[in-house]
Amino acid sequence: MIVALAGGVGGAKLAVGLAAVLPPAELTIVVNTGDDFEHLGFTVCPDLDTVLYTLAGENNPKLGWGRAGETWNFMNEVKRLGGQDWFQLGDRDLALHVLRREALARGASLSTVMRDLAACFGVEHTMLPMSETPVRTVVKTKFGELAFQDYFVRLRCKPRVTGFRFAGAKAARVPDALARVLRERVDAVVICPSNPFVSIAPIVSVPAIKAWLKARTFPVIAVSPIIGGAAVKGPAAKMMRELGIKPNALEIARHYERNYGNAVDHWVIDQQDAKLISAIERMGKRVLVTDTLMTSRRKSAILARQVLGFARKQINV
Ligand code: GDP
Repeated sequence: MIVALAGGVGGAKLAVGLAAVLPPAELTIVVNTGDDFEHLGFTVCPDLDTVLYTLAGENNPKLGWGRAGETWNFMNEVKRLGGQDWFQLGDRDLALHVLRREALARGASLSTVMRDLAACFGVEHTMLPMSETPVRTVVKTKFGELAFQDYFVRLRCKPRVTGFRFAGAKAARVPDALARVLRERVDAVVICPSNPFVSIAPIVSVPAIKAWLKARTFPVIAVSPIIGGAAVKGPAAKMMRELGIKPNALEIARHYERNYGNAVDHWVIDQQDAKLISAIERMGKRVLVTDTLMTSRRKSAILARQVLGFARKQINV
């Protein structure tokens, strides 16, 4: 079994590759729910939905979120009627949100709702929320704390960040299906190229996941989300600069080491960053250097195959 930890865009792209090369029984994708929030009466789960839509091939690659072929009648009407329109929900997306709200109101767990939705989309691989109970990323700034989507969407990541916290993490309850995986024989964990601060950190803040990683006997391989000193998409590099960390793959490796003490055994970095190999190796890590920019499903599968080959080598040594 391979367990992948994923946020939205970068996570979903590698998840697609892993799903292309592994059978459903051999892959579990654990998805960040720290970005989730309540809006217009709905539970919005941006990363879960991005992973779902991307696995199903129904994502909107231009926007980086939401559905392909989307229409906006609902949102236009919300605006016309004076409702909040800073967070966009397309018509197709809305249908999913209505059904999710209905199922959650009936008492279904988030993981069950997502499992049933995944089945409707023909997604056979297992994707699980990191927690059944709410964990909410809070962004700390000089001017106080912001709920994640306030920071990310409403304020377009403009405020300077000083740190993060994950409200509800201490009491987070992993889905039963994830608890079973954590007890099973796991061959390797792959940390997808997702934002370390607001996609991976919330997952690792869940006590059951944190304890499982600490006591592990399997290798953890991480793919750097920073290529050539920049993020492919999103605020990861900006956050690093604001936190006084130089945005590059080496500093990402050091960040994981400092904050999660040996949580990552080996690194996959981009060919543009080959000059950083020896510094990362001096940290006691093995490094795979390759093209990590996933601009198509084919490239996602190629990278996934290389990451898994690298992981297998670490298991056999
Ligand atoms: P979010 O929750 O939607 O922001 O998604 P993630 O945290 O999963 O993804 C954001 C991160 O993915 C950013 O730091 C990007 O630099 C990184 N990323 C996106 N696409 C790629 C890619 O093709 N290759 C690599 N290496 N990183 C990527």
